[in-house]
Amino acid sequence: MKVDVLIIGAGAAGLMCAIAAGQRGRRVLVVDHANKVGKKILMSGGGRCNFTNLGVTPASYLSANPHFAKSALARYTPSDFIALVEKHRIAYHEKELGQLFCDDSSKQIVRMLLDECQQAGVRIETSCGVERVRRSQEGFSVITARGEVHAESLVVASGGLSIPSMGASGLGYDIARQHGHAVLPVRAGLVPLTLSGKHQEHYQDLAGVALPAVEASVGKRSFRAGMLFTHRGISGPAILQISSYWHAGDDLRIDLLPDQEAAAWLSAQRVARPAAELKNVLADVLPKRLAQRLCELWFESRPMRQYREAELANIGAQLHDWPMVASGTEGYRTAEVTLGGVDTDGLSSSTMQSKLVPGLFFIGEVVDVTGWLGGYNFQWAWASGQAAGEVV
Ligand code: FAD
Repeated sequence: MKVDVLIIGAGAAGLMCAIAAGQRGRRVLVVDHANKVGKKILMSGGGRCNFTNLGVTPASYLSANPHFAKSALARYTPSDFIALVEKHRIAYHEKELGQLFCDDSSKQIVRMLLDECQQAGVRIETSCGVERVRRSQEGFSVITARGEVHAESLVVASGGLSIPSMGASGLGYDIARQHGHAVLPVRAGLVPLTLSGKHQEHYQDLAGVALPAVEASVGKRSFRAGMLFTHRGISGPAILQISSYWHAGDDLRIDLLPDQEAAAWLSAQRVARPAAELKNVLADVLPKRLAQRLCELWFESRPMRQYREAELANIGAQLHDWPMVASGTEGYRTAEVTLGGVDTDGLSSSTMQSKLVPGLFFIGEVVDVTGWLGGYNFQWAWASGQAAGEVV
């Protein structure tokens, strides 16, 4: 079969690219080895797809080249995607921090993309794996489970390694290397962190305990959001966000009370409630079981009147700077994204085209551009897909 554009991967980026290319009159085929398209879109945002973020800026992305994402993100903005969502009459809402979700279901986003593909004459083949990719006179010859496809342009939109059970594979990285591209080391991002040894023992039975707002920091980077204890460690938005900046061995520090001056507050409590025990006072601002555990591990719980100012200052300082010793991450099994990937040095930032092999494009998560939690990753998928779709 001959097509103008062959796209490997019917996820967010691949479908977006297909729509833009199809609308330009290009003959587009999208192949995916999964049995249905957009599986990650379907499972995203707890089934409601956090499809973009109103606050997208290049600073919300991790990449060896922090400038790379600028051009595509500036040319296809959250407003552009919102216009598409509104054209399809999909109701949505802002949950918090600029995060936009469908009111109803992420199925609507997949339906929207498929409708747009259909209108643009895009052909999609699911359950269609890719066996071999070669350069040919026409451009590329790709052996798929349904036979050989000849294409002028080849777009690799096969995503990262996160959630292998959803069809994630390293094919995109293999194709990149095969064509002379560097692939930067990959690792799980937006992922729960694990604890081990005594650190795990100390908090294991707190699984399910949630804090609405902590500030988790690694070096100078910090995120203020919720945190959750799990059976094997810690999770919640603040931890997922900071996990992308955390490397094994890094110090992770957690401010348990980022919204108050803990020492001054404790001092005031000593005056107001002299007979109250510290663990009960702390339970006013922290989950009760955590307050109790911290008192068992860190400071004896006595009636407030028995503490000296200096002791309260010390307790306050510890509450603002809890060193957490993470042993690792939960890995690709639960990670929302894959950090690293195809080195942007080898790609044009305006078109996503390979600088080494004309006609070869890389878009979406397979590229070394990874967003924060909160709709940033889909916005990168839409923007990079659109950038390639305009020129393939
Ligand atoms: P993908 O969407 O992963 O698509 C890649 C496609 O390529 C898949 O369909 C796959 O089957 C196919 N493929 C892979 N290997 C092969 C192969 N060998 N042959 C053929 N086909 C292949 N981001 C947000 O912005 N908001 C959210 O709410 C959000 N929620 C998430 C929830 C979860 C649980 C997860 C795992 C991720 C979430 N993300 C979210 C991240 C977001 O889903 C990804 O960043 C985004 O899907 C990347 O798009 P992509 O098109 O590059 O890759």
